[in-house]
This record gives sequence, structure tokens and C-alpha cells, in this order.
Amino acid sequence: MPRPKRKRFIGSPPKVDGFKPLGFPISDLEPVILLYEEYEAMRLTDYEGLNQVDAADKMNVSRPTFTRIYEKARKSVAKAFVEGKVIMIEGGDFHSDHYWYKCINCQKLNTSCDKIRQCTYCQSDKLRELN
Ligand SMILES: [Zn+2]
Repeated sequence: MPRPKRKRFIGSPPKVDGFKPLGFPISDLEPVILLYEEYEAMRLTDYEGLNQVDAADKMNVSRPTFTRIYEKARKSVAKAFVEGKVIMIEGGDFHSDHYWYKCINCQKLNTSCDKIRQCTYCQSDKLRELN
């Protein structure tokens, strides 16, 4: 019997929606999608300096699963760097202990323990749920 899939844990969302190469209008560029859990895998290892065992533990996944997520993340980022593609950070299959929202009005990121209806920075009600 297959083991039930564990929900990948991510503590907080990335500060930006993605990255764009200089010198080209975004409409001329193809995107590469980096899932939220792929971003988190790179953040924990390449930015925080954790080894893969500790990073897997933080994300509540097995070490082999972590390695698969991490390798796909590196491949996507390398493809974007080499081929001059936009990186969009979105989607995935994970959970967090906070609700994440992006304000359509001021573009700021809102995180909250409870569901919110208004941006905490500009009070706009135009919020997009990220998770
Ligand atoms: Zn706002």
C-alpha cells in the first residue's frame, strides 16, 4: 500500500512573486514556474545553509523527496538564468501555519494567523490568497 503523501510545510512566503531578466519587456519572455516548495527548498539549503536532512525535516518530507524538490528547483532556476526566462514563484502542494495574501492594490505581502479581508498596509479589500 502506498504511504500517504505528507503535506510539505513552508513557514513563510517569498517576498516577491518572481524574477525577470533585465533588458526585455516581460511580454517577450517565457516563464519558468518555481513552486513554493521548490523556493523553500532552495531557501533552506542555499540561503540558510541547512543540510538536506535538516531541510527535509523542516519541510516535513523524507530526505529523498526533499532532494527531488531541491533538484527540480535548481534545474528551473538554471534554465531561467541560461535561457533568459522569467521565474514565477507560484503554486505547489504544501501547508503553512499562516494565511498568505498579496494585496492587488499596494502589492504588499500580508501574512496572518487568521483569515483577513483587508490589506493591513493600505486597507484595500483586493486581496489574492496565495495558499
Ligand atoms: Zn495593500
